[in-house]
Amino acid sequence: MKELKILYLYPDMLELYGDQGNIQVLRYRLEQRGIHCTIDTYSIGDKRPNFKSYDMIFAGGGADNEQGILSKDLIQYKEEIQEAEKEGVFFLLICGAYQLFGKYYKNIHGHIIPGLEIFPYYTESSEKEKKRYIGDIILSVNLNGQETKIIGFENHSGQTYDIPSPFGKILFRKAHQFSDTEEGFFKENVIATYLHGPLLSKNPKLADYIIKHCLDKKYQEDTILKPLNDTFENLCRKQLLHKFLNMNHDN
Ligand code: GLN
Repeated sequence: MKELKILYLYPDMLELYGDQGNIQVLRYRLEQRGIHCTIDTYSIGDKRPNFKSYDMIFAGGGADNEQGILSKDLIQYKEEIQEAEKEGVFFLLICGAYQLFGKYYKNIHGHIIPGLEIFPYYTESSEKEKKRYIGDIILSVNLNGQETKIIGFENHSGQTYDIPSPFGKILFRKAHQFSDTEEGFFKENVIATYLHGPLLSKNPKLADYIIKHCLDKKYQEDTILKPLNDTFENLCRKQLLHKFLNMNHDN
């Protein structure tokens, strides 16, 4: 039986707006296909994880306070996490975790929370304006050459700069007072984004993209995933795409 091993970092501290649902979606979509899914968690005080032994590492969003508390703990693993990333372990990082993998996060009070510095971007909140990005957001993302609409929800004050390769182009954003045209960070084995939602329940194609990527790497093959019944997910997408983009199709 095939298996994917997922490490879920700080589930007790980095879990906003249903981030944990991403793990549930991955487990569901793997088990429906007869693939075993092991989910280990790590938080402060737990045994040192062997990061390289996982196929995927997930971490969600968090409030500034939690980010400040766990940053020191996370940084002690910098080299091991960097090595795992270089070896191709897949990272899905949402919001606060996205910020923590960059150089630093400066909050609205000017306080700097150091990051892992694994990626070259940095995040700052606007001290003067005290604005937050809040609301639904839709991106256009290229997944294996296919343009895919990614639907999510964001709620953060930090704005991330110096991103080498964005996750997607912004098609719609409720927080339209901000002029950014692109969102997130994307490289072969990393998706870092502000999209909560939870992200994968609204975007089954993205969930399958990640699953296929991990299986292809682990089993050295071009995996063909059995299609699942996504009627409910697709109805939800249809409603949201119609509401925000006035679109009647999903491609
Ligand atoms: N504390 C960070 C910010 O406000 C991240 C928030 C989040 O993870 N939703 O920018």
